[in-house]
Amino acid sequence: MTGVVVSGLTKSFGKLKVLDELEMTVAEGAVTAILGPSGSGKTTLLRILAGFEHADAGCIAIGTQLVDDAGERTFVPPKERRVGFVPQEGALFPHLTVASNIGFGIRRGSDRARRVSELIGIVGLQGLDERYPHQLSGGQQQRVAVARALAVRPSLMLLDEPFSSLDAGLRAAVRADVKRILTGTGTTTLLVTHDQDEALSCADAVAVIGDGRITQYSTPRDLYAQPVDAGTARFVGVANLIDGTSRGSSVDTAFGLLPLMPGSPPLADTTRVVVLVRPEQIRVSFRHSDLGPRGIAPPGGTTGWDGPDGLPGRIVDVQFYGHDVVVTVAPERPCGTDAIVARTTDHLAAATGTPVTLWVADPVHVWRK
Ligand code: ADP
Ligand code: MG
Repeated sequence: MTGVVVSGLTKSFGKLKVLDELEMTVAEGAVTAILGPSGSGKTTLLRILAGFEHADAGCIAIGTQLVDDAGERTFVPPKERRVGFVPQEGALFPHLTVASNIGFGIRRGSDRARRVSELIGIVGLQGLDERYPHQLSGGQQQRVAVARALAVRPSLMLLDEPFSSLDAGLRAAVRADVKRILTGTGTTTLLVTHDQDEALSCADAVAVIGDGRITQYSTPRDLYAQPVDAGTARFVGVANLIDGTSRGSSVDTAFGLLPLMPGSPPLADTTRVVVLVRPEQIRVSFRHSDLGPRGIAPPGGTTGWDGPDGLPGRIVDVQFYGHDVVVTVAPERPCGTDAIVARTTDHLAAATGTPVTLWVADPVHVWRK
């Protein structure tokens, strides 16, 4: 098993500085996602780790091996790094069958055919062994590429947006399979993606990349619940950003007094803050607050509730997703935003124009304004 340590990694293409003294430690045997928008340097980082590009400055250790030290001009060539790489576009050998592509890096011997067939099973391509890449869909080609990289049992796997060409139904299944295989074999994995769902669902840890650096490194849960800033909050999901004023271990908002998440850094009373409220933290009551009795605990139950009867508003948009409905609500009191997005399972009641009351049912995360 092998962890990775990246220190001071800097890379420019001409005047464009893509990586800027990037620091990162990747845990052994874990799947770590690198999440960032297109053009943020994800592929460049992977290519430097694989040894396809040289760093301008900084160093990289894979396990105990220093593979790139631009200061000392140390550089271990790609094939001596034991790194499996799945590029963004599959890059299969067009003249080789599925089985031959997958078996390419495996030493000939009695075990080879068994290993190839095992890998074909893992990526769900049974029966397609003798096909050529051009006879496969994009998604199937990508799965061959994953199998081929796994075949050599690399100590570090680098996956560059490997599931982006798969259709939605298959993507989740292949993702789960690949994660299971990599975790099972203890392979340290870096998974590059611009898809927040993929990063949150697939990875043990997520490194968010921006301005050439890692801007947040945390578990998927913490990244979603306690992002470092509003931009990150929006990047990893829908974020309602509400005005608030701190009061003890709570925050005063248009929704009432909301408890802060446990472990929140202490804030002096009356500090102005921005409050993050995710759509699923909101309970939608299809009863206007004027009609509702005061002093009743909100649906979902918040302990220590002593605020007003939620925030009244009117539904201005409804998006139906089958399993739930996402409503956009125009609040009737100023709260820091003109449109609050909430999730509800009440399909029948959610209609444009309906008056509602919104409640926040969970402790919240805040940033200083
Ligand atoms: P990502 O994978 O996050 O989309 P990349 O690492 O591919 O980002 O690219 C980061 C930036 O570096 C982009 O602006 C891209 O155009 C530029 N870039 C990448 N590779 C090269 C290269 N070989 N020559 C010049 N510019 C490059
Ligand atoms: Mg890329």
